[in-house]
Amino acid sequence: MSQIVGQEAGPGPGIRAALPAAGQSRALIIAPHLTRVQSFFCEGGKVVAPSAGLPLPQSVRESSVGAALVAALGNHRGCPHKPSMNREKYSRQILFPPIGAEGQEKLLESRAVILGCGALGTAQANALARAGVGTLRIVDRDFVEESNLQRQILFDEADTRERMPKAIAAARKLNQINSEVKVEGVVEDVDNRNIEKLVSGFQVVLDATDNFEARYLLNDVAVKLGLPWIYGAVVASYGMTMTILPESTACLACLFPSPPEGAHETCDTVGVISPAVSWVAAIQVTEALKILLGRRQELHGAMLAYDIWKNQLQEIRPRKDPQCRVCGAKEFAYLNRTAPTHTSLCGRDSVQIHAAATRQLDLAELRARLEQFGRVRANDFLLVFAVDAYELTVFSDGRAIVKGTHDPAVARSVYAKYIGA
Ligand SMILES: [Zn+2]
Repeated sequence: MSQIVGQEAGPGPGIRAALPAAGQSRALIIAPHLTRVQSFFCEGGKVVAPSAGLPLPQSVRESSVGAALVAALGNHRGCPHKPSMNREKYSRQILFPPIGAEGQEKLLESRAVILGCGALGTAQANALARAGVGTLRIVDRDFVEESNLQRQILFDEADTRERMPKAIAAARKLNQINSEVKVEGVVEDVDNRNIEKLVSGFQVVLDATDNFEARYLLNDVAVKLGLPWIYGAVVASYGMTMTILPESTACLACLFPSPPEGAHETCDTVGVISPAVSWVAAIQVTEALKILLGRRQELHGAMLAYDIWKNQLQEIRPRKDPQCRVCGAKEFAYLNRTAPTHTSLCGRDSVQIHAAATRQLDLAELRARLEQFGRVRANDFLLVFAVDAYELTVFSDGRAIVKGTHDPAVARSVYAKYIGA
């Protein structure tokens, strides 16, 4: 049994939050401001068999209790796991019974990956990092622009000025929010060559991409690996979400066998308001927490769609299609096809160019070479080169975003001329 000095009578919230840090060991709480010693026992992450509570002095605030207990726990020996971890941070969600102290430990050991770091991705990452999901990987190909700030909650004006890659800017901000969580920012374009490597080893994938192609690719890899993923999409004031457990629920292709034809509305054509993003991200994050906590029976089990402006909610219960080409026939058309050589970015007057093969560019050398042709700015991750009517943002892996054209052929020729084929 360990002795912990703290101030609280009865198994109050502060003790319930702080005690589980003692793990399997038993702990004796000495409450020096009270008239007698109190004993509480922590077994299997739960506070059990406390003695009868004593009157709590009004002046004792719960937060100071938790802090005192945690400080004491940090000093005491014989605690089997992570005595230095600060559970006070999570005390309000530990009080929520479906999470509790045991659930919190589970979350701290959990691993989630977020594909895309725009409006949905920043909202998801913010919530998961604050909740203490122990390992987060955030993958995004883009950099921060001024028009992002209205809804992409992890970015600020300095990120815009410095043209920070979104995955890096988000990881830095999250580290300031909760340094206990391990956040990895990956600056890559998700495609069929890298997606399996990017999501392997994680327990859930949150969709924060902005196009159908990426979602069908994610659906392919998730079904192949048996990995849960949570679809999410927002445009204007309207959002949709669905949770896919490959072994038991319908997959994206059961519901939409092929992408919708013709032009779709996108955030770049009809706009988007941030509360619609918050609604979708809130549901996705709640579903992710349920999956990570092993509470799958509590998932909503529907395709939910909500127009937050018109206040219209729709709910459908998709059935698994035995004829589905993905989860039925296991044909992974998006995963197995040859990689595209370029991708148009929706509605932004830009074309993305993939390097023919993975390579590592020397950005300093490239900068020196390009300065004779136009204006160049750079940070540790990318270089921005303005020439004629174009602006090229070149990443160190050779990928580039050519702004100023919709035409892939034009973009490829500008890229070949200045960066090399
Ligand atoms: Zn299916």
